[in-house]
Amino acid sequence: MEVRAKKALGQHFLTDQKVARAIVDALHGGLPTLEVGPGMGVLTQYLLEREDIDLRLIEIDTESVEYLLTHFQGMQGKLMEGDFLRLKLEKLFPEKFAIIGNFPYNISSQIFFKVLDYKDSIPEVVGMVQKEVAERIAEKPGSKTYGILSVLLQAWYDIEYLFTVGSGCFAPPPKVESAVIRLTRNSRTELGCDEALFKTVVKTAFGQRRKMMRNPLKPLALARGKADVLSQDVFSQRPEQLSVDDFVELTNLFS
Ligand code: SAH
Repeated sequence: MEVRAKKALGQHFLTDQKVARAIVDALHGGLPTLEVGPGMGVLTQYLLEREDIDLRLIEIDTESVEYLLTHFQGMQGKLMEGDFLRLKLEKLFPEKFAIIGNFPYNISSQIFFKVLDYKDSIPEVVGMVQKEVAERIAEKPGSKTYGILSVLLQAWYDIEYLFTVGSGCFAPPPKVESAVIRLTRNSRTELGCDEALFKTVVKTAFGQRRKMMRNPLKPLALARGKADVLSQDVFSQRPEQLSVDDFVELTNLFS
């Protein structure tokens, strides 16, 4: 019996074996690895072949968990039933680890925000996401789709858009195209500004993305007693024009 695809869980099962192998091959490996949302195990089968990978899996869907337990050997103790977003990763992986998956598209942004929370423990992520999300994350400043996740992830990761995957490679086919990206932790150990404030500034600046940043950032400047900085030229720019380093400088204006 196959798993019945559930929309609410973002289940679109990859059926193209070549694509599945290419995704697994994209992982540099050599680390304990967590597969998020294995479903019926199309990636899992190739991950299990790799001797450089000690695999763990987290799957929220009971039916998929049962499928994996009956179709793959050695799942006991490796496969967890539960929600990745609630997983205490530091308990599971005391050392560094990688993440791979055909991510459920409804929570892909939340998955990346969680990766950011653990950035010093996660040197590598290979994931399939909606094509637009992949483009946005990989995009450089100046582009219309450059946004919060692009800045926050690019601060800590080198991002490669690897390849596009058509909707015909899935059952049932999603409405959108997909793409595979790889995140590799860069050499940055600190930002050069307060990290929490950096996040706040980036999120607030993109709150009204088509406007000069003076508008959205004004309340923050006032709250921090820094109204005087608002006259500076940088506030006449729109957030999508700023690089990571520009945002670091901007953050320092508020502290
Ligand atoms: N990797 C499989 C399935 C991809 S679909 C394939 O390529 O065919 C996304 C998978 O993520 C589904 O199996 C879904 O049940 C699972 N999933 C959805 N939300 C999840 C969550 N919060 N935590 C863990 N798994 C989740």
